[in-house]
Amino acid sequence: MDCIFCKIANKELDTQVVFENDQVLAFEDVNPQAPTHILVIPKKHIPNIQEMKLEDQQLLLPEIFQAIQQIADDKELEKGYRVVNNCKDSGGQTVNHLHFHLLGGRVMQWPPG
Ligand code: AMP
Repeated sequence: MDCIFCKIANKELDTQVVFENDQVLAFEDVNPQAPTHILVIPKKHIPNIQEMKLEDQQLLLPEIFQAIQQIADDKELEKGYRVVNNCKDSGGQTVNHLHFHLLGGRVMQWPPG
């Protein structure tokens, strides 16, 4: 499968990994939109939230949110941060492997573009 995030999860591509366990990998976004910009992904290939089966939700969403908490602690984001998921074309998704953006280190604006 030609998925760039699967290649990252399989260590076929280099990235700056900040968190890893059996299910989840987190790494620096190559085009950061904030002083901290981390992508948190399940290692399993799931295209997007809409195609996430209940059994994967039950297993992986707690793992992903624990990773986000851990990274936020490690990066000292005690003032706050933003978690973003872009789902499919109109949501702005460009990489079709489920991922959550963790953005921090600056004050976020609302609404997003
Ligand atoms: P999205 O537009 O929500 O699908 O987000 C995809 C994100 O992946 C973008 O923020 C890109 O900068 C990021 N990205 C694409 N390729 C890589 C890569 N090889 N390493 C790290 N981040 C990447």
